[in-house]
Amino acid sequence: MNTEKNDRARWLQGPSAQCAVLPVERDSPCRLVLLGAPGVGKGTQASLLAARLGACHLSTGDVFRAAGSRPDCEQTPAMRAAKDYMRLGALVPDTTVWEMVRERSGCLACGGGFILDGFPRTVAQAELLKAHMEQEKLSLTAVIDYELPLTEIVKRLSGRRTCKECKAVFHVINQPPKQEGVCDHCHGKLYQREDDRPESITVRLDAYNKSTAPLIAFYKNLGLLVAIPADGSPDEIFARTLAALKIAAV
Ligand code: AMP
Repeated sequence: MNTEKNDRARWLQGPSAQCAVLPVERDSPCRLVLLGAPGVGKGTQASLLAARLGACHLSTGDVFRAAGSRPDCEQTPAMRAAKDYMRLGALVPDTTVWEMVRERSGCLACGGGFILDGFPRTVAQAELLKAHMEQEKLSLTAVIDYELPLTEIVKRLSGRRTCKECKAVFHVINQPPKQEGVCDHCHGKLYQREDDRPESITVRLDAYNKSTAPLIAFYKNLGLLVAIPADGSPDEIFARTLAALKIAAV
């Protein structure tokens, strides 16, 4: 496995942040968008792909969560509003999301490539991304759609636990930590994300079906869509992803 690391400082903190470890520039950097309902394991696959490709894992949800954990006085009104949408499991408005991504557009032009996780989430966001990339003469390599039946998604989301410190993800049944409530990697406290609670899950899946599912047709029309079954272990799904992208496993 490739051990190159990137610290995503710019993506998580904003345009003025500098990454301490810059990704290695590539001749043909991989620029991927990952699609799939919440709970299909996009985040896990994004981390595996990032390590394999040396490209940054760019999650819009991570930016909103990081902003949400800062004191209220340090937040812009838009970020404060975003936090409220997020708490309910609803989508943050397109203008707020695009403002946040555009501020970080340096990450999209990075010579190391990128793996977008959780963005775009609506056709409007996809149109904005497409126009921006065309203007910057950048192109997407592929859009991966992870597919999983609804009943399986609900099981995965409600059992998910996340480390407060290193953000590692566990599952109470499928991937329990050695000690209940404690991260295997850094001994941080595990918690259930507010939007992984049953009342938010329904809202998130509804939002996905209404807003994000139409993206599948959008990217299919552009000839970029690659569908991957998301059942099985993370390693199995990863192997399918690499095979579909024609990337060697080692
Ligand atoms: P995620 O970690 O990708 O599941 O995102 C968590 C929450 O952040 C979502 O439920 C939304 O409230 C918000 N969010 C993240 N990315 C977007 C996006 N591209 N568009 C709208 N809302 C988003």
